[in-house]
Amino acid sequence: MRSLWSAEDAVNLVRHYAARGVAEDVALRIYSSRLLGSDPRLVQHGGGNTSVKTRERLITGEQVEVIRVKGSGWNLDAIEPEGLPSMRLSALQELKHVAHMSDEAMVNAQRSALLDSNAPTPSVETLLHAWVPQVVIDHTHANAVLAVVDQPDGEKRAGDMFADVLAICPYVMPGFALAQKVREIIEAQRTAQGIILLKHGIFTWGETAREAYERMIAMVTRAERAIEQASGSEPRVMASSHAPEKLAARVLPVLRGALAQSLGAGAWKRVVLQRRESPSIMSYLQHPQLQQISQHGPATPDHVLRIKPWPLILRGLGESSEAQLAASVREAVNEFAQRYQAYFARNNRRVGGDRTALDPMPRVILAPELGLIGVGQRHTDAATAADVAQTNAEVISAAQSLGSFVSIDEGDVFDVEYWSLEQAKLGKSITGRLAGHVVAITGGGGALGSATARAFFREGAEIVVLDSNAQAASTVASAVQGLGLTCDVTDASAVEGAMHAVCRTYGGLDILVSNAGAAWTGRIGEVDDSTLRASFELNFFAHQNAARAAVAIMRRQQTGGVLLFNASKQALNPGTSFGPYGIPKAAVVALAKQYALDYGSMGIRANVVNADRIRSGLLTQQMIAERAQARGVGEAEYMGGNLLGLEVRASDVAETFLALALAERTTAAIVTVDGGNVAASVR
Ligand code: ZN
Repeated sequence: MRSLWSAEDAVNLVRHYAARGVAEDVALRIYSSRLLGSDPRLVQHGGGNTSVKTRERLITGEQVEVIRVKGSGWNLDAIEPEGLPSMRLSALQELKHVAHMSDEAMVNAQRSALLDSNAPTPSVETLLHAWVPQVVIDHTHANAVLAVVDQPDGEKRAGDMFADVLAICPYVMPGFALAQKVREIIEAQRTAQGIILLKHGIFTWGETAREAYERMIAMVTRAERAIEQASGSEPRVMASSHAPEKLAARVLPVLRGALAQSLGAGAWKRVVLQRRESPSIMSYLQHPQLQQISQHGPATPDHVLRIKPWPLILRGLGESSEAQLAASVREAVNEFAQRYQAYFARNNRRVGGDRTALDPMPRVILAPELGLIGVGQRHTDAATAADVAQTNAEVISAAQSLGSFVSIDEGDVFDVEYWSLEQAKLGKSITGRLAGHVVAITGGGGALGSATARAFFREGAEIVVLDSNAQAASTVASAVQGLGLTCDVTDASAVEGAMHAVCRTYGGLDILVSNAGAAWTGRIGEVDDSTLRASFELNFFAHQNAARAAVAIMRRQQTGGVLLFNASKQALNPGTSFGPYGIPKAAVVALAKQYALDYGSMGIRANVVNADRIRSGLLTQQMIAERAQARGVGEAEYMGGNLLGLEVRASDVAETFLALALAERTTAAIVTVDGGNVAASVR
């Protein structure tokens, strides 16, 4: 590992922050924190922490010694001055003389020492940083160091490799007790340039940001060299480079359904999946001792929050029939949940029985045929779980090449997993009524489709935008952090391919908004068949293509689902010479009722929205102007020509799709969104 310190970048950052009144030492602290945070081999997702001791002026004019430590909610790679809250150093140093301290008392003491009472809560390692005398302190969970210290004889290995420069500390749970232990060790070894925490990570320190950072890089490089030497002599297990995409599309919805937790009365807490299949992951998954080496526990304690104490291993997916697959995946997930519940019960008894169990479902699945799969309520959580699991796989592989990987004991894992201060790291609970739901919207690039994408995104859903226009699909998808797919919905095999891509990206599908459409006109006795058939392809069969593919996924998941069809007021209230458009739309109403009837027993609902006179690709500005003129009215009067006298907006239609998606006891319904028109109302 090379030092990325650049004198030029450092000076530029110092200048940048000087303009905001930030002192040079703090600016350099920010610079090296970002260098550490930018390398996933050192820290990931809020892991690691850094500090600097400096002086600041109070409002009274008095200069005081402060320590600035990373605050919760900040990641090192993007840290700003606000992410390093200042505390009075003397207030923290007084705590050295306290023998025991509860977590709550420690957090309170840290918060009481803050100069800004609104600052984020400083790291749980704050006291450790405060009690080490050096100016700048860096802490990482570097993969290479973990591979050396996560060993049965890790203490000896760490001693051989680092003891000339660093102190060595046995595993102690983070917090007050660890801070005390490190203080004792360092008081006896004042020349140490840092400390190795067995089965946890590494601290380095120095008088400047550069010194602490470069010591970190030097120590990590030592560990990397040892791993290179050890693994160079070992034959690498080569995996097949390509995991079968079809198998993923078939298996992931079954898995996702098995991971959903029933909330009773047909409601589910759903998750999304993210699969990884890089050559190094596939090689790890082929390891002959995968069953043993993957189950020891996390590479560093706080990973347990993202990946649970162990992953679920799923095998034999390729050979089974649909029914066998469903049964075996569900059985494996149930076994995992039982194992987790037993682990919780056993350890909760040990600590006095006052903890509340977290959900017992796995966060990571290792499937040698498919890859590594992260699980989360949002796509970003699933990606975080997959990132952390990937790091664990790398540490375990490296540790195995040096010796054999071991983690902390089960009790220590539990203590970190159920530590209130760690749980707080996971942050706010998920908001949005559709968190964990995957929604696909056809015609998603248009006016109605994009309004619908935004409405569902606001409720926390993962959004897939399908559109025949690639640019439109990707523009809308990126606005809702979703997946954009180019798809001609009149082509059944293209729709099926797109739905497979949805399954590979999120693990499945819960809601289909079948919205794509276009208008054809002509008097019904005169229009040629080709026009009518073209309209039927898009305005009827495309809905059937999408619904059939969606229902196939929903049946694999066994967690119900929602089909929403964009029909038209034409379905009930035809307009002159609009037959080619209205007739297939009437058939779409019948299609929705048929799906409602045939799949209601599986919890799949089907509903229709009949909208009218919305500005969109079907009703362009030019058409509005022409029609208003033909009727001898102004544009606004034409658009508001309904009982309410108000123009109906795309967002009104989007809100209606959303309301129908949430209406858990409504199926086979038609909802009209046209501002009121008795002739077009349902009778
Ligand atoms: Zn740590």
